[in-house]
Amino acid sequence: MTELNTTALYPIGTPGVPWGTAEVAAWRASQLVKRSYADEVLRVIEAQRSRYEVIRYGVLDCGPDQYPLFAIKSRPWNDTLPCALVTGGVHGYETSGVHGALLFVERHAASYAGRVNLLVAPCVSPWAYERIHRWNWNAIDPNRSFRANSPAPESAALMNLVAPYRDRIVVHSDLHETTDSDESEFRPALAARDGKAHAPGEIPDGFYLVDDSERSQPEFQQAIIAAVAKVTHIAPADSRDEIIGSRVVSPGVINYPLRELGLCAGITPARYKTTTEVYPDSPRATPEQCNTAQATAVCAAIDFALAHPA
Ligand SMILES: [Zn+2]
Repeated sequence: MTELNTTALYPIGTPGVPWGTAEVAAWRASQLVKRSYADEVLRVIEAQRSRYEVIRYGVLDCGPDQYPLFAIKSRPWNDTLPCALVTGGVHGYETSGVHGALLFVERHAASYAGRVNLLVAPCVSPWAYERIHRWNWNAIDPNRSFRANSPAPESAALMNLVAPYRDRIVVHSDLHETTDSDESEFRPALAARDGKAHAPGEIPDGFYLVDDSERSQPEFQQAIIAAVAKVTHIAPADSRDEIIGSRVVSPGVINYPLRELGLCAGITPARYKTTTEVYPDSPRATPEQCNTAQATAVCAAIDFALAHPA
């Protein structure tokens, strides 16, 4: 709706010139803490210690700030069972990804005891959680950085956490949001950082999923869509039959080459992989609905995987 040319007006850097260290430093200095990882996330994780194993899998060094990284594991862990991986907060600003993962643990995880081992990393990028941003401390998107010699310590730490279980994980749900601020702030920031022009795009109104174009699982994705549709509305395709520039392959589903793009959902060879995209800015969706949609998606994904083993 804006009439402003955000490319020319992006407050950091020179249009057409990629950022250097001075611009990254200026960007970092402009990112203020808006909420507390310790109060809103770590307290909830700590409260699970009586029921689950809570493991500290790393610490992020962000200048003056250190962020411990935590994951929640089934206890007991049974090596004969399949494993399910849940990741949230790879993009720290995507609130329901974090709180949906925590809601899943609080409300639903116990019902999977004895059927599947759970490994949940609820807040992969805590510096960004506190600043409600997409990038990490170094202005790097963790969700393009799941690759060898990753430039993002958040991504490297998660890959190390998952490595021992990697080949036993049968289902991975990576929980995200698509927000209005993607178009108003983060896409213009990305263009400015890389010295490119920002091409305006659309934000879909509703929930959608990203499948793996290298090994798509349409029935699995549709099972999740059907479950989430009872909680919140599914994003329609736009006039080009696309969602965020990708062809809609089935209702509410687009495909990406996950591994090639360095996306979190591609870090395991799991048969069933999905990236959820909740739309929190819809006038038709409350924060509670968004968290519930994420937890519902996780349950539907695990249920399908257990009902359809390889
Ligand atoms: Zn995201």
